Amino acid sequence: MSRANAAPDPARIEAPPAVTWIVRTLEDRGFETWTVGGAVRDALLGHPSGDWDLATRARPGEIRRAFKRTVPVGIEHGTVGVLARDGIMYEVTTFRRDVETDGRHAVVSFADRIEEDLARRDFTINAIAWHPLTERLLDPFHGREDLGAGLLRTVGEPAERFEEDYLRVLRAIRFAGRFGLRVADETWDAMRAVVDRLPDLSAERIRDELVKVLDTDPRPSIALRLYADSGALAVLYPELEARRTVPATTQEGGDPPSEWDVCCATVDTLPVANATLRLAALMWGLAHDEAAALLMRLRLSNAQMDRTLLLATTPELPPPHATDTDFRRWLSRTGLEVWPAAVRLQFAFATTRARLGLATDDDAESLEASWKRARAICDQKPPLSVGDLELNGRDLIALGLKPGPRFGTILEGLLSWVLEDPARNRHELLAERVQEKIGDA
Ligand code: ATP
Ligand code: MG
Repeated sequence: MSRANAAPDPARIEAPPAVTWIVRTLEDRGFETWTVGGAVRDALLGHPSGDWDLATRARPGEIRRAFKRTVPVGIEHGTVGVLARDGIMYEVTTFRRDVETDGRHAVVSFADRIEEDLARRDFTINAIAWHPLTERLLDPFHGREDLGAGLLRTVGEPAERFEEDYLRVLRAIRFAGRFGLRVADETWDAMRAVVDRLPDLSAERIRDELVKVLDTDPRPSIALRLYADSGALAVLYPELEARRTVPATTQEGGDPPSEWDVCCATVDTLPVANATLRLAALMWGLAHDEAAALLMRLRLSNAQMDRTLLLATTPELPPPHATDTDFRRWLSRTGLEVWPAAVRLQFAFATTRARLGLATDDDAESLEASWKRARAICDQKPPLSVGDLELNGRDLIALGLKPGPRFGTILEGLLSWVLEDPARNRHELLAERVQEKIGDA
């Protein structure tokens, strides 16, 4: 098969009217302007394109003068946001070239030619420009052929390009996984050679790359395997790397999948645009402390961190024949807000394990029976948190107790007692119990 024959057809490309309007406005003023990057690549692949980015010879001041509504989104990099009539903000960036790089940051200067701008881009498939007025495709690095051949390659010398910006290693993994591309040998060797430098990147950039895989890739397992095979997993996420050597079954014989394999296969069954759920699946089975340490390093927001940690480390639903108290304790620990997602994860794992021959369908059935019981108990709206108790801190003061950290312990104790029997949640009974306990102390 000839590579050129397999290359996708540029006739597929269709830019939104607002993009064409921006290009025309700038060109009418004498500034050459192109669409570039991800949207051109996606359009060639026949994927719906998200962000249309534009590159222009106009300098930022000139871009701002050409349009009524602009936002200086990254003026130091030469990027101006143009608010178009369709209500979308398009990023318009002055042609640039790299002057200095150190693996973490690039110092750029403006350039006069689109070719220079394309040459500083990371991969051939991301270095294609398309002109919506002339419908001309400018592809000096043969990105279209690479797309057709299913190949990911750097623009220029791989080792140099990764030394300039280590993030490109993680971007390569993400694009190769997302588009099912094979990483060209020299590119792959150069990636492996710099994985040890990945921790030099800021935690935010590292995290954002992983989150993008989980958020946008319908089958993250391919990119995740590349994280593992390249060595990036061991360097950035040693807790997850360790799971690769834990067999997923204690049964003898064969070559059983690892716990890591099971997590990756389960992540694939969960929907895109739910990175929290997928991240929790990826971290499934980690000890609480390990999971917490990993999430701290990712620098997620506190709310995201709490939710992910809870999801990743929630114990299994009690078996179907367990007592109501067991179920109430489980619901109370997991929380009303998180428990449906926690059960969804457990289902996803049970189904994946059954599919991989690591469990029987009975496990999924028993999980379903447990889930029904949990739901029935939820419907009775039993008190499940300290806030649901018919006695609060103010009542404790009224009973003559001095406010302090002890209040938390007392209320938790009352909740535990009420979880055994919701009928105990009456003010007089709770007050009586507090007094008894104080008497004991
Ligand atoms: P997506 O938005 O789907 O993640 P994208 O290709 O649009 O993919 P962006 O991060 O939006 O990626 O960047 C837009 C373009 O800018 C890329 O296509 C690439 O040409 C260039 N680019 C982005 N990051 C880098 C980098 N670290 N090194 C070199 N070029 C880059
Ligand atoms: Mg983009």
